[in-house]
Amino acid sequence: MTHAVKHHPGIPLLEQYVEGTLEADVALAVAAHIDLCPHCQQLCQDLAVEQGTQLQLMKPVDTQDSEPDWQTMIDSITAEPPLANPPRQHKGPITVQFKDKTFQVPRALARLVEQQTKWTQLGSIANNKLPAGDKRHVSLLYIDKDTAIPQHTHRGLEITLILSGAIVDEQGQYGVGDILINTPDDTHTPRTLPDQDCLCLSVLSAPLKFNKGITRLLNPLQHFFY
Ligand SMILES: [Zn+2]
Repeated sequence: MTHAVKHHPGIPLLEQYVEGTLEADVALAVAAHIDLCPHCQQLCQDLAVEQGTQLQLMKPVDTQDSEPDWQTMIDSITAEPPLANPPRQHKGPITVQFKDKTFQVPRALARLVEQQTKWTQLGSIANNKLPAGDKRHVSLLYIDKDTAIPQHTHRGLEITLILSGAIVDEQGQYGVGDILINTPDDTHTPRTLPDQDCLCLSVLSAPLKFNKGITRLLNPLQHFFY
């Protein structure tokens, strides 16, 4: 990949990710970013080591009776019934299809992509809602080249991970692997480049709020994204 990832989730999110305390749909976007970002892969390894060291320090120093009861452990594992549907191993690239286009996406999205639904298209934007969302709505978003999404603010958290192409907004340009995190304070007008379409993963905790234009016309857009 020629593009160097410039926009990262930040240390607090990575810490929670490594701890396993991040909520599932946010963790999904962070995991997919990490797949694309050697910098954050290294940071996560370092954080895991650091957290491991802290756990070691917290352990009571008691060497008596510390031998694990292997036989009980093995018995309990073998007593469990085999899984009816063992998770499938994903070999080869994970791809997303939109019309005649094929996009390769991070391995972290494999299980979700398998469950993707139908694309809904509105002009030059298409949305594929994924069943991951618990508190938040997770979807794949395809935006054709030279397309602007009307200016909007956020009622909640908006996380966008670029999977192909690029997005430009008032803050700068975002390429493959870059993660944009917008909160209710942020207003932006994202658009694609004149000659390149874009695929991204979108995680939303509340519908977008469009600021400009005729509300009556933009209302269907809110349902479209959320
Ligand atoms: Zn990163």
